[in-house]
Amino acid sequence: MCKDISKTFGSMVFSDVVMKEKLPKDIYKSLQQTMKTGSDLDINVANMVAIAMKDWALEKGATHYTHWFQPLTGITAEKHDSFISPQGDGRVIMEFSGKELIKGEPDASSFPSGGLRATFEARGYTAWDPTSYAFVKEGTLCIPTAFCSYNGEALDNKTPLLHSMETINDQALRILRLFGNTTANRVLSTVGPEQEYFLIDKKLYDQRKDLMFTGRTLFGAKPPKGQELEDHYFGALKTRVSAFMKELNEELWKLGVLAKTEHNEVAPAQHELAPIFTTTNIATDHNQLTMEMMKKVADRHGLACLLHEKPFDGVNGSGKHNNWSLSTDTGINLLEPGLSPHENSQFLLFFAAVIKAIDEYQDLMRITVASAGNDHRLGANEAPPAIVSIFVGDDLDCIFKSIDEGTKYDGMKQGTIEIGVHVLPNFIKDTTDRNRTSPFAFTGNKFEFRMPGSSQSISGPNVVINAIVAEELKKFADILENAEDFTAATNTLICKTLQDHRRIVFNGDGYSEEWQIEAKRRGLSNLRSTVDALPHFIDEKNIKLFTEHNIFTESEMHSRYEIMLESYSKILRIEALTMIEIAKKEIIPAVSRYVAKLCSTAVSVKDLGLDLQCAAEVSFINKLSKLNDEAYEYVNDLKETIDKTAQFHDDALALAVYYKESVIPAMDRLRAVADLMEENTCTEYWPHPTYGDLLFKI
Ligand code: ADP
Ligand code: MG
Repeated sequence: MCKDISKTFGSMVFSDVVMKEKLPKDIYKSLQQTMKTGSDLDINVANMVAIAMKDWALEKGATHYTHWFQPLTGITAEKHDSFISPQGDGRVIMEFSGKELIKGEPDASSFPSGGLRATFEARGYTAWDPTSYAFVKEGTLCIPTAFCSYNGEALDNKTPLLHSMETINDQALRILRLFGNTTANRVLSTVGPEQEYFLIDKKLYDQRKDLMFTGRTLFGAKPPKGQELEDHYFGALKTRVSAFMKELNEELWKLGVLAKTEHNEVAPAQHELAPIFTTTNIATDHNQLTMEMMKKVADRHGLACLLHEKPFDGVNGSGKHNNWSLSTDTGINLLEPGLSPHENSQFLLFFAAVIKAIDEYQDLMRITVASAGNDHRLGANEAPPAIVSIFVGDDLDCIFKSIDEGTKYDGMKQGTIEIGVHVLPNFIKDTTDRNRTSPFAFTGNKFEFRMPGSSQSISGPNVVINAIVAEELKKFADILENAEDFTAATNTLICKTLQDHRRIVFNGDGYSEEWQIEAKRRGLSNLRSTVDALPHFIDEKNIKLFTEHNIFTESEMHSRYEIMLESYSKILRIEALTMIEIAKKEIIPAVSRYVAKLCSTAVSVKDLGLDLQCAAEVSFINKLSKLNDEAYEYVNDLKETIDKTAQFHDDALALAVYYKESVIPAMDRLRAVADLMEENTCTEYWPHPTYGDLLFKI
């Protein structure tokens, strides 16, 4: 069994090993060079690679190829072309050229562009990203690509990520050289994303229009049992779930995805999958594949996989913990406290850069996880609050204290830390507390960003983290490259940075009321919702950051801002319309039928003339009739509220704000009354599966 897995692992990937085997030596070398340096690929080399790739793909049963890309919808896109090429005599041969490998021209007019691509210029193009391996999925050779408008503006999630990896590489290498490191040629940002999801029965899913149209339940009274017994977390897997996980792993392994850990999560029917970390670029591609495969494999098992941030009210939502670090191509993790004082100075400098970055760009960290779905999680006492802060644990906190107070540092005890003299005790890994309430936690040798939502691409968060840390490393390198005494200057810089940015460090309970007050006192930003956060994306300092590091142009930023706002409003519109449809066509008629039944029962019983009061029937009739009237009124209110959105047609921000301030409250009112009716309506009359069914019948 073990042997089989090691054989099938990556069997559908055109990996380094395959390339080495299939490509002539000189071609392989030039491709490697391109992958390492990002230089342009010679067309002759591309032609040879294309032929080898096609032959390999045909062996794997592929008949088609596609440029696989990540438009700003948050999911992946593919357009399949077959390899066939007619020969004029009625025969076909299978062909694939270097040109087809390197560049594609999908019609881009139906992907979000935020005004970057005028509709008359529908063409966009996709360009091969040789740093992420091609793979065969369901009979198609998938070639990971970047997606741009015809003028070269990025229309996808991959392009900025690759740029952000370049800039952090450049700046981190400058620092490493200062510490005398001459062996590392590249610094890579690495990520391991822990993916949370729900699995429910597909037959029940199919009966819920809200799940089908919006990915979450828009109605649903609380079941008698939720997650209060805490009996699901790490619990034994149910048979169907376990079969699903087994097949999912196998599918992912074939695609070279390093799926590693799986377990039940806190909420009933909630689970998690974590891969072994890799570069941010590949991890992002793999996470997209993982989400896609989760849905497909679930379907084969009669299950539906829900990736929404909050499929159910009243139980935990789903996030995606983004474990981030920096690593050299020689395999050194730059956020691993070292064994010598020298290594520790280097560690503390990188650590300080992250602390400063997060403090100065709290807004970007919040923006990069802002979405209609994630608004249900952040700040709802089950996920980190909307306030960005960093957990460093007691041990590292000692260092902050020592620096602050100028006292002597003595291992775990508080005291002066003389950077470059002390060896940090090897404590951090074992003693870092798992403070689940912290949005951004140092966990021994990496930072765990816990705010991202379960459905979102991890590209955005990693673009931001890479960019802001690169910016701080750049400032550090500018200072230190000109310092007369490097050691003294490094010490001063670390101490000053940690002192100046101490306010962002918080090791306490992020859910508490006191933290809200304390954070305000410290001057930390508290952008509660998506519409509060998004406008800051185009603040001057953020435009400066992204343009200076060649990650976005100013017009790309404006377009992304538009797209994020539009997407927020569109999601809420779909949700509101779905609520209206379900309420009008299912819930109100169902309650009405039940009331009719109660009425006829009561009349019949009274007809018996036995002096019976039918108290139960009468009470339900009274209650439900009134509630149904209210529901009808709220449906009409909601409809009117949505109709008023027409007035904001040329102002995306005003529209989004209106959705938040007027449409959401109208939705909440309708839901409250519908849920109350559910609690009082006979099960057999209720039109769709309840929370109890969805969460426990699997
Ligand atoms: P947990 O107990 O939170 O699951 P793990 O150490 O198992 O902690 O790590 C969780 C995730 O962090 C995994 O996906 C793992 O691969 C990833 N991870 C570990 N080290 C690094 C690193 N240096 N860079 C990025 N991600 C990492
Ligand atoms: Mg974790």
